[in-house]
This record gives sequence, structure tokens and C-alpha cells, in this order.
Amino acid sequence: MPTLQATLEEAYEAVLPEVGQGALANYIPALARVPKTKLGAAIVTLDGEEARVGDSDEAFSMQSISKVFTLSMALQKVGATLWHRVGREPSGTAFNSIVQLEREHGIPRNPLINAGALVVSDVLLENRGVQETVGAIRDFVAGGLDASAVVVDAEVAASEAETGFRNASLANFLKSFRNLNHPVAAVLEVYFHQCALSLSCKALARADLFLAADGQDPLRGKRIVSPRRARRVNSVMLMCGHYDASGDFAFRVGLPGKSGVGGGILAIVPGRAAIAVWSPCLNEQGNSLAGTALLERIAAQTGWSVF
Ligand code: GLU
Repeated sequence: MPTLQATLEEAYEAVLPEVGQGALANYIPALARVPKTKLGAAIVTLDGEEARVGDSDEAFSMQSISKVFTLSMALQKVGATLWHRVGREPSGTAFNSIVQLEREHGIPRNPLINAGALVVSDVLLENRGVQETVGAIRDFVAGGLDASAVVVDAEVAASEAETGFRNASLANFLKSFRNLNHPVAAVLEVYFHQCALSLSCKALARADLFLAADGQDPLRGKRIVSPRRARRVNSVMLMCGHYDASGDFAFRVGLPGKSGVGGGILAIVPGRAAIAVWSPCLNEQGNSLAGTALLERIAAQTGWSVF
């Protein structure tokens, strides 16, 4: 039986030819400057084994992966009432699509598309200011890691704000349906800053290990969410974590996962491990092309698919 490290290295070598295929997320100028050649991955298991390969120590922009953490925080804060304001069905549309919002009266399909994440940011703003909310999100992601492992990249946040016309449209639309309680500008500021969190694969795999462990983080030594909530966050990830390619990701990888346009993907192996991969070039649906291929290979070699 090969070690986890050997399995990861074999998968890495097999996927290297795909690195650089696809395109950088050039609609956010700061992301368009990242070298196309990067590929990294980290796996942390519940029994403490860690495997890493390639650029696994290099920080990248978390982008929509942050939505998994803010969803966990919002569920902690308001419980199941969150589901009155946001659904839990796959959207079958792009991450920043506005079309369903009108038909569905301002209730976003799920919390992992941009419209849903904006509602979640609004929930997190309740009873605190923008800076405090951004700090709380950063601390939630970083809890248990050393303080410098997760930082807000101010340049990326500013770049998103400058070009975030679609997100501004989504937020205004939500507000017109009375599904935002705070000013549009404040909600957008929280959202852009959560997307601009930056961390390495090594840190990300550790940060989301609680979702593989029924909500009880073995590294932090404490419960982050209840077992039922951990299962539900994982199920939303499986169905909705890759936008209109969620079905393809489930087909190829078979694990709950969440992608970001920075090229990162986190994947949860319930009861076993957390995996983080990063390669910045994206496929047409905005998900890391080589990162998805790497996860497909890891899942096939380990037999870790949930199916
Ligand atoms: N900040 C990005 C946006 O809102 C996040 C999208 C993503 O990572 O999928 O456009």
C-alpha cells in the first residue's frame, strides 16, 4: 500500500501537463497577475497524517472558498432561519448569475453562489461593523492556525471593489427584494474582503478539517459546528460547490468540494481527511482545471469518493 505522500506525488506528476491550461480570472486584475505554472496540494487526515506536494506552502486568494466558512458562521449565528433567506438547491447557473434572482423573488438558490454569499455576509454584519465582521471571518478561518497563516490581501480586495459591477448589481437586486438588512456598500465590503483572504493549501486543509470530523476540530481541540450542521454544509458543497459544474465535479471526484476563482479547491472526505489544492488557471465554469484533475486522481487512487 503506497503512503499518502507517495499517492499525492504520483497524482501531482500525472497532472503536471495540465497546469497552465485554461485561463486566469482576469476580471479581477490582481488575480490575473498570478503565475500560471503553480500547482500545490495538501492533505490532512483525522489521525494526524499530513501529505504535501508542489506549491503547497504558497499563499493564494481564497475567493469563494470563503463561502463555506461564512456559511458555517451564519448557521452558528442564526441557525436554520438562514434558510428563509437563501435556498439550498443547485443553481445550474454561473457563480455571478442574476437571472434566477428575479424569478425567485430575491431568494438566492444557495449560499455558495455570489448572491447567496452576499445574504450570508449580511447575516454576519448583524450587530457589528464591517471591520469587525471581516476580522471575525478571518479569525474563524484562522482559528487553530498560526496567526500569520490567513491574511486579508488588501490589493485583491481593492481590485475586486473596482471591478465588482456584477456583485454590486446582485446586492442592489437583493436589497430591492428586502433580502439585505444592511447598506449595500457595507455588505459588498464584507464580501470583497472575505474573498480576498489569502492562505496556503497547507493552511486551508487544516482550516477545514472540522468538516471532515463531524464539526469537532481535532487540531483546535474544540467543536466548531454540530455534527448535523457539518453534514449539511458538506451536502450543500456537494450539490452547489462548483456552480454549474457541480454535477461534473461530483461525477469526477465524488467529494463535497468548494472552488474559488483564485484557483483553489477544498474537498472534504467525511470521517477521514481534508484536501486543499491550488492551480490558478480555470476551466470555463470558473473552477481550477488542473486542481480538479488532481482531486480526481487523488480520489481514484485512495478510493475516497463518498459513492
Ligand atoms: N470574488 C469573486 C467574485 O465575487 C468570487 C467568485 C469565485 O471565487 O467563484 O466574483
